[in-house]
Amino acid sequence: MRLRTVCPQAPRTWTVELRCLTGGLVLVCQHCPQDAWRVTAESARSAALAHLARHARSDLRAPHLRTCQCHERGCRWHRRHRGCAGPIRLLLACERGGRIWRLADACGACAAATAQAAIVPDTVLAAPLHLPSGRPRRSRRPRGPGERVRVGEILSYLAVALPADVSAGARLLALQCALRMNAYMHVELPAGLLRGLRIDTGWTCHELERARWLNVVNGPGAAGVAAELRDATLLAQSPACPDRRRAADWALRTGCPSRMGETEPRLRLPGVYLSAHSDPSSGEGRSEYDRIIRDCGLHDQGFHGALTRLTATGVLEGWRICPDSGDVHWMLAQGH
Ligand SMILES: [Zn+2]
Ligand SMILES: [Zn+2]
Ligand SMILES: [Zn+2]
Repeated sequence: MRLRTVCPQAPRTWTVELRCLTGGLVLVCQHCPQDAWRVTAESARSAALAHLARHARSDLRAPHLRTCQCHERGCRWHRRHRGCAGPIRLLLACERGGRIWRLADACGACAAATAQAAIVPDTVLAAPLHLPSGRPRRSRRPRGPGERVRVGEILSYLAVALPADVSAGARLLALQCALRMNAYMHVELPAGLLRGLRIDTGWTCHELERARWLNVVNGPGAAGVAAELRDATLLAQSPACPDRRRAADWALRTGCPSRMGETEPRLRLPGVYLSAHSDPSSGEGRSEYDRIIRDCGLHDQGFHGALTRLTATGVLEGWRICPDSGDVHWMLAQGH
């Protein structure tokens, strides 16, 4: 009788490092030590993410075969918490001020406890596309998380994947692109949609190009804008296109100036973010102070002003910082 040996699978965690050498920056991957790539300061972040994404995409694995890699390493990547819990997702983390980037399977509890990290949102089908067949389609039930959760996750992910100086308007645009792109990372935003976003499309596209997050292929013009996203990490997870579009529509409605009573993107972005993180029935929400600042691209000084302004314009009923935990608690106004 021959015993079948079970080949242990390589752990789903990948780490790259940006090293300063004389003459410039070099990208070094722990899993391909034989190679090192010269990168520029501007391209370093996107090169690191693209390389990690390639590893993750070449190792697609059924959910039940994925385990919390953080736990398997003794949970050294974060402060203490009460143990692993929640579904296993891909976590993108950055350490030492952006010199080290790690993509790893982690449980919800470990992901939430890790600083400078964000879950890679479920975006498009990582598996081969099913071409539409002649069969009539059965009506489908929404899959995966609801629209608020999707929007919240993408904003958190963008806070890690985009440089900190990218403007709130560009983040609102990136949110729409990430939610509306197809399986080939192509996205078309019609002019009407862009008008509804009320941002400077030319400038924000330029910002996202400079961050090497997308390439504009057409426009912006009378027909809108067409772009190819360069953030390959977004392809590393699965799921459902109509649900993503619904989430994009929700974000557009929620952040529209007439609803917010506010035109400035730097206030509309936190408005969308806080709505996404509120309980839909009670309107209550709660989050860590640092996380809101980071995910909304705010600064310490800007935080109080932004939330006070959102209260004055009737988006929030009120807000406070809990003296014990330091967490921010808020309540959405009726109708938001
Ligand atoms: Zn590598
Ligand atoms: Zn852990
Ligand atoms: Zn865990």
